[in-house]
Amino acid sequence: MKYNLAVLPGDGIGPEVLAEGVKVLEAVGKRCGHSFELTYGLIGGVAITAEGTALSEATVKMCKKQDAILFGAVGDPRYDDPMAKVHPEDGLLRLRQALDTFANIRPVFLFPELIEATPLKTNIVKGTDFVVVRELTGGLYFGKPKRQWTTSRGRRAVDTMAYSEQEIARIVHVGFELARKRRKKLTSVDKANVLLSSRLWRQVTMEISKEYPDIELDHMLVDTCTMRMIQTPTYFDVIVTENTFGDIITDEASTLTGSMGMMPSASIAGIPAEGARIIGFYEPIHGSAPKHAGKNDANPIATILSVAMMFRYSLALEKEARMIETAVEDILKEGYRTYDIMGAGMKKLGTKEMGDVIAKKVTGK
Ligand code: NAD
Repeated sequence: MKYNLAVLPGDGIGPEVLAEGVKVLEAVGKRCGHSFELTYGLIGGVAITAEGTALSEATVKMCKKQDAILFGAVGDPRYDDPMAKVHPEDGLLRLRQALDTFANIRPVFLFPELIEATPLKTNIVKGTDFVVVRELTGGLYFGKPKRQWTTSRGRRAVDTMAYSEQEIARIVHVGFELARKRRKKLTSVDKANVLLSSRLWRQVTMEISKEYPDIELDHMLVDTCTMRMIQTPTYFDVIVTENTFGDIITDEASTLTGSMGMMPSASIAGIPAEGARIIGFYEPIHGSAPKHAGKNDANPIATILSVAMMFRYSLALEKEARMIETAVEDILKEGYRTYDIMGAGMKKLGTKEMGDVIAKKVTGK
């Protein structure tokens, strides 16, 4: 089969880790007889420099024609000025909105070989394996009004956390569907003791749960969740939560996997179903890590595992997804590490070299 993919490397380490993702993609293509037509585009700081905008309409149009989008990271210290009219991250928000990729799936899986790489005690993190489903196109990041203005008593700013029942329902369905394929337990995370949007979230979740009698549902306040996540991470199977809470708890969750460089993500525009192909974009959860740019030391595994998620959700090719995940598992067992997950007696590799060993494992040559 031939597939059309957009490749948006972005800023900082984005291009370096994504090049390794593409290397592994091509390795899978070679082994399984797929070919990929790749169209490159600009996003983030590089797009601001070249085109004056963080994501041009031409790039959005190009992305909409693809089977899926592979994405690196955005963020450039040159555009950090809070007074600036345009920020690299605007490109990412625009892309999420344009593609309506409302469901962000972030697996939190600790490879047993990386137990020593986490700062937490082995008996706590051992067996960590859960998924966070984060709502991605609503809540505080998109709600209106959203503005800053000046009053006679100084400056004020407002962001709005707003959700409709339809927005909540579709993301909660994604959570239930994923739980059905796993250990059948869904934790809905909110702040229903204080926020009205969270109370609606809880009401809708309880209503939808009637369609999933086989799934055990519980509700947890986000503050409790942050604590529980590092006290008893094995408690969780699937978490579903709104945009901002999901953003924050998944960075915390990355410490359970050993490194930010180990956490992939899929942002999809539909509810996953057997064999269905859904448009989506695939990226590591980390940012552009500017201090590591150009050093060939960033860990590309989160990006490579994101390519596996693309095979699973956008191309409905489960075997190919597993092929990549198994290759990562194997090279970790063989002792290959990047600096962030390095341990005593292990073999330290750079970004490119890590991509090479994983691609080689995939092709078997
Ligand atoms: P970051 O995720 O870029 O990096 C934080 C730290 O995590 C790094 O200094 C590094 O020590 C480590 N790290 C991250 N990725 C790694 C990898 N692949 N391998 C090894 N170590 C890795 O977060 P930040 O420094 O807070 O943000 C830098 C820029 O990225 C900012 O401009 C921010 O807005 C942006 N950002 C973008 C995204 C995105 O594109 N999706 C997400 C988060 C932050």
